[in-house]
Amino acid sequence: MSATVIQGKAFAARLRDRIGDHAHAFEAKTGRKAGLAVVLVGQDPASQVYVRSKAKATVEAGMGSFEFELPADTSEATLLARVAELNANPDVDGILVQLPLPNGLDELKVISAIDPDKDVDGFHVINAGRLCVGQKGFVPCTPLGCLMLLKDLLGDLSGKEAVVIGRSNIVGRPMAQLLVDADTTVTIAHSKTRNLPDVVRRGDIVIAAVGQPEMVRGSWIKPGATVLDVGINRVEAEDGKTRLVGDVAFDEAREVAGAITPVPGGVGPMTIAVLLRNTIVSAYRREGLELAKDAL
Ligand code: NAD
Repeated sequence: MSATVIQGKAFAARLRDRIGDHAHAFEAKTGRKAGLAVVLVGQDPASQVYVRSKAKATVEAGMGSFEFELPADTSEATLLARVAELNANPDVDGILVQLPLPNGLDELKVISAIDPDKDVDGFHVINAGRLCVGQKGFVPCTPLGCLMLLKDLLGDLSGKEAVVIGRSNIVGRPMAQLLVDADTTVTIAHSKTRNLPDVVRRGDIVIAAVGQPEMVRGSWIKPGATVLDVGINRVEAEDGKTRLVGDVAFDEAREVAGAITPVPGGVGPMTIAVLLRNTIVSAYRREGLELAKDAL
């Protein structure tokens, strides 16, 4: 039987509507908009597209957007000074420096310069540490979006076997931590994992975050499993144009899985929605206001 296709795009749209309501309530209470600052260095076309769609979504949600496009030859000192300015700006609740940075700029140093309490991407080591020890902080947007989709679909995840393929700091590792915190039993697979198909077959939940087009085959999936495909890979199609595919061979996997996200339209739209969510959460925290638990 064919799997349920998880409608991440529609879920993200509903989340963005709720964020919009909270953004308007925030402005009514404080007389200012919640603000997100996005800094782009250089002219990487994919990054430009991301940054512009983030800015558009921010404004659509009723928040303030502060955008900075700096030339590729920007010095580290100039970039750090910009970050310091945004840290000090009371109208800015969230700061995001678009990665990757051009060669010569130290990403760790730049991310470490962001005030952890404005680090809505959740990449600062302080926030990574807070996640590990269960303290309140910011969680990277893509894995948090995946967790929201899983909870919406499955409810209680307790006791399930979860397999996360990929161990990056922005997806795989925080995803695994969130799944442990949700009481699943987690296996983290990576490029050195032996017998990957057998490992993946353990998963009631499979999260693929690898960056290899259609690597995860249908025969690797446990029947009825829930499969979230984080991968975004541009491949050449037969007509010579390019198209986006995930890390999972969707047509094969949907015949075996219980539920699966498509690419595009699955996990991808959750990332920006969660970025807006983290920003509004930051704004409420910074003003000492209550945002109902589980409101977002
Ligand atoms: P990354 O390159 O930092 O990490 C990839 C991980 O995959 C590594 O940990 C590596 O060990 C593992 N890996 C590589 N080859 C493997 C193999 N053959 N078998 C098993 N594991 C293997 O990538 P990332 O930043 O985590 O991103 C992963 C994918 O997710 C990419 O396609 C990226 O474009 C996509 N992504 C999507 C979103 C979104 O918004 N949907 C956000 C971030 C990343």
